[in-house]
Amino acid sequence: MDNQIDLTKFKGKVFDIWTEFAFSHESSAKWFEDFKILLAEFFDVKYAGYYIQDAHTFIQLKWNHSLSKKREAIRWHEIEGFFYEKDFAEIPFIRKEEKLNREVSILLRDEENVILGMLMMDLTEKWERFSQTPDVNEFIAIVSKLIKVIRKSVYLTQQEHQYRNLFNVTKMFHSTLEIDQILQGTLFAIHDAFPDFGTTLILSNDQDRKTSVPYKLFDYTAERPATVEAYVSGEITSDLVEDLEMRQLNVPIKGKQGNYGILQVSTPLDYLFSYRQKEFITMLAATAGNALENAKLFIQSHRLVGDLQLINETTHKLNMNLSQGEMVIFLRNQLMKSFQPEHVCFVFIEDEEYSINAASSDYFYTLEGQMYIQHVGNQFKKMKDSLFIADFNRISNANVAYRSLVAIPLREQDTITGFSIVLHSEPYYFSFDSFKLMQSLIQHSSLALSNSALRHKLQEMVDRDHLTNLYARSYLDRYVEESMEKDTSGTFVLMDIDNFKQINDTHGHQIGDSILRQIATVIEKQVEKLGIGARWGGEELALYFSEMTLEEGKKICKSLLEIIPIYTNPSVTVSIGVSLWCEDGEMNFHNLFHHADTALYEAKNNGKNQLCVYKADHF
Ligand code: GH3
Ligand code: MG
Ligand code: MG
Repeated sequence: MDNQIDLTKFKGKVFDIWTEFAFSHESSAKWFEDFKILLAEFFDVKYAGYYIQDAHTFIQLKWNHSLSKKREAIRWHEIEGFFYEKDFAEIPFIRKEEKLNREVSILLRDEENVILGMLMMDLTEKWERFSQTPDVNEFIAIVSKLIKVIRKSVYLTQQEHQYRNLFNVTKMFHSTLEIDQILQGTLFAIHDAFPDFGTTLILSNDQDRKTSVPYKLFDYTAERPATVEAYVSGEITSDLVEDLEMRQLNVPIKGKQGNYGILQVSTPLDYLFSYRQKEFITMLAATAGNALENAKLFIQSHRLVGDLQLINETTHKLNMNLSQGEMVIFLRNQLMKSFQPEHVCFVFIEDEEYSINAASSDYFYTLEGQMYIQHVGNQFKKMKDSLFIADFNRISNANVAYRSLVAIPLREQDTITGFSIVLHSEPYYFSFDSFKLMQSLIQHSSLALSNSALRHKLQEMVDRDHLTNLYARSYLDRYVEESMEKDTSGTFVLMDIDNFKQINDTHGHQIGDSILRQIATVIEKQVEKLGIGARWGGEELALYFSEMTLEEGKKICKSLLEIIPIYTNPSVTVSIGVSLWCEDGEMNFHNLFHHADTALYEAKNNGKNQLCVYKADHF
């Protein structure tokens, strides 16, 4: 009976293994060490291996935790054919342990015929003989039962561990609205569950950027198709990345309102995820998705209030009758404060001419800066929508310094009257939310800006004399009074056309008018930048220069005396009276005018076509 296998004894020993396993909490591979001793005892087996079945694949038990070995998994469809007749077979192509001559594979199934795993051992004489007997089926049934029980308890332990893990993460998620913590927690949980896997967070561009957790930005154009598919469909995808010798699992981070990104788990090429692993990662990603969504909604509702406040404050301020210059400075400060760009510019367009507003960063006066203005200007010629460029280097070959750009047009009805640009060197710097807010801020300000331009034009109309386009007397009054307050000296000039009545009488009023315009043109050219010219009334004109010496003043007047007869047709001459003020004398505007008038009277009396300076004692 030496060759006979005592199944009852075998059963008893199997039961011992199970009891040992169930109460010792040994590692999930320990039972097989004991089982191998059984195989040696009963069948003289020297080498044996156990293969776990998961996702239609058989993986060596001792390799289950080793990623590199897991690649040598056996697929069910490769060996299925050997088990048509009975549940044990010699499979010639299976990699032999320790160069065995013959090896038998024994398939283990549960009562419903579901495959649990596979036992592989060297094919001994004892086994050969035993396998011819009907007892072999009972043997397989006993081993299967053992495997089933062990599998179940291993599964339960693992499940418990993972659910505890998931539970802790979820609990933490519910206690926080910090996006940072949620992302960090997700990465920790994955790492805790699968310490050997590489994990990458890929987040869509609408995230709040202020997170310290490392992540990649989701980019439709650069991502692998399987990643895009997972993002778009919201379904988990798996991908063989042959060139990197990796397998990637793409798990969408899903909330109720959409996908926030992808949790990408990388393993060696032939690694296969079990259903349980996939389920765990999916649940984790979904939990993270929900938590992110809650946090985002929370932030959004706060931001909405903040945004409305910003727009409200801005429009309120802009409606306070500021000059255009003041408005642009205010807007620039708002943009800087709210979006922290590195450069801001405002460009106004009039008759296709661009003018960079003085509130813009100096950078825009450089050639490089002009490139951005040109680019934006050209874009707005093609389409009038705001421009949101996440990475400038993606759209142009030039390797530019500022890669994030937002440009918003300033509109007056349908025409673009200008635009604003913000720049930052970091790509993807401005979030889509910031872009939207900037758009609404600028659009709300557009009206105020064009109103102020209109007001500016109206003011010009009031300040200018209609006939000559010189300043009107009211403007001159204000100008001189202001100068007398803030400057240290000034020269006032009164000019009267000689014998103008006669010109009118001889040539008519219209010719008289055109002579006035001709003289105005001469004055504008002569006083440009040095002071201002105004129509004092009738055919009397006035000039004012602040901080000018008497010598310089006389020089200008003398050249006017020379030039006016040349540039007028019919030619006329003028008489000029000059008066001065300086801060040590006690002068007011009324006196200043009176003195000039006195000097003018003197010039007329002395024979016209000349200039007279008012001579007071202190001059
Ligand atoms: P004088 O050299 O002494 O200044 O002689 P005058 O002829 O210029 O004398 P006066 O200052 O008395 O005359 C001013 C004339 O200027 C009266 C008016 O016909 C003419 N005048 C005043 N305003 C205008 C104007 O807007 N257009 C025209 N065409 N003539 C004007
Ligand atoms: Mg006169
Ligand atoms: Mg006159």
